[in-house]
Amino acid sequence: MNQPLPSACATTLSVTPSATIRQRGQHEVFCGLTSIIWLHRKVQDAFFLVVGSRTCAHLMQSAAGVMIFSEPRFATAIMEERDLAGMADMHDELDQVVARLLERRPDIRMLVLVGSCPSEVIKFDLTRAAGRLNAHYAPRRRVIAYSGSGIETTFTQGEDNFLAALVADQTTVPAARSAAKLVVAGCLADVVEDQFSRLFAALGLQDIVFLPGRKAIDGLTIGPDTRYVLAQPYLGATATALEARGAQRIDAISPLGGEGTTAWLGAIAHAFGVNPARLESVIAQPRKRAEQAMQHYRPWLDGKRIFLFPDSQLEPSLARYLHQELGAEIVEVGSPYLHREHIAGELALLPPGVAISEGQDVDVQIDRCRQAQPDLIVCGLGLANPFEAEGRITKWSIEFAFTPIQGFEQAGDLAELFARPLVRHRMLTGRSRHQEAAP
Ligand code: SF4
Repeated sequence: MNQPLPSACATTLSVTPSATIRQRGQHEVFCGLTSIIWLHRKVQDAFFLVVGSRTCAHLMQSAAGVMIFSEPRFATAIMEERDLAGMADMHDELDQVVARLLERRPDIRMLVLVGSCPSEVIKFDLTRAAGRLNAHYAPRRRVIAYSGSGIETTFTQGEDNFLAALVADQTTVPAARSAAKLVVAGCLADVVEDQFSRLFAALGLQDIVFLPGRKAIDGLTIGPDTRYVLAQPYLGATATALEARGAQRIDAISPLGGEGTTAWLGAIAHAFGVNPARLESVIAQPRKRAEQAMQHYRPWLDGKRIFLFPDSQLEPSLARYLHQELGAEIVEVGSPYLHREHIAGELALLPPGVAISEGQDVDVQIDRCRQAQPDLIVCGLGLANPFEAEGRITKWSIEFAFTPIQGFEQAGDLAELFARPLVRHRMLTGRSRHQEAAP
């Protein structure tokens, strides 16, 4: 899973104000298969079938943790040597696996074929396979395909490709269904979706579709007036697919924290002509609750210097939240990719001089991090324990992808995720946060 990134600019240790450091080299990130872990919990009528190797199956087992004991709705169709050598017809083999699977699991309404490095290297066309299987199983069942391979995708980009495939697929759209007015794109925990649904209803907004929803058997209907807003910042392919079908984007920062959620809802309300006074009355109480919850953790993070390694593309949004709402100082914001158009609002709210890095050359970035001596390092587990062994304080970044963090009611929980390692460090060392804040 450590391949060179496609960007081709030199890495530099000297950082000019707000310059983007483009890196190419070894990188320590997940491939897109990992996003199946949260997608299969969200879309309750779907089954994700990875077409890959034992390596892919091992990755899924490790990433899913205890979930693998709860009959999850994902599995790996393992390609054997005779498949790779071209001795078997892969399409025939896949058809047989799918037939057995659907016979055993009649509850599956949507089958998602997920491409991996091995299936891509041998050019196994899963989109064509999905089309053929759809001809057989639709409309009762829907079959789509996307790539989650490490060659093409990093971590959350798997979700992006899945949503883009959902948008493009039209096999199960009921003919008479009316078009959505607003598509909220990005996988959200059910509790967050419910909170946003209540806020939208209080604003008088109707015909809203969450993408993905809990049920995915019915395709998405888009009309000339459909608008979409990103609830997650890493959805470049999904945005392109929605725009290809005529939906127009509402430009907004991510709904993280009190300010972020206010701005996100404000952009939606403005796009639909909601009276500002009505918006204010709807959000006043939840925003106050968010501010009070964050206030509890602010002393732990105010003035702390934070370094974010690339992981999920959430990093610019998290950095904006940390700086704007909790007073943290951002040393460097790493992101696997930068969709500059989608995160322009977040970057504009960071102070000049913050280093933004795209891609990774992990050894060089580690050197930069050590040199900067941050108070908190946000990184993957592969780096976290070695940094802790050096006496540094880390926050494991994958938690931001798995934990409900969007919306007013989660603003305090998000602050707690960052404060927790600092609190733990204090408990273990007995040093006060004021002592820790001192150089
Ligand atoms: S898709 Fe590629 S990077 Fe991901 S587990 Fe399989 S072989 Fe590894």
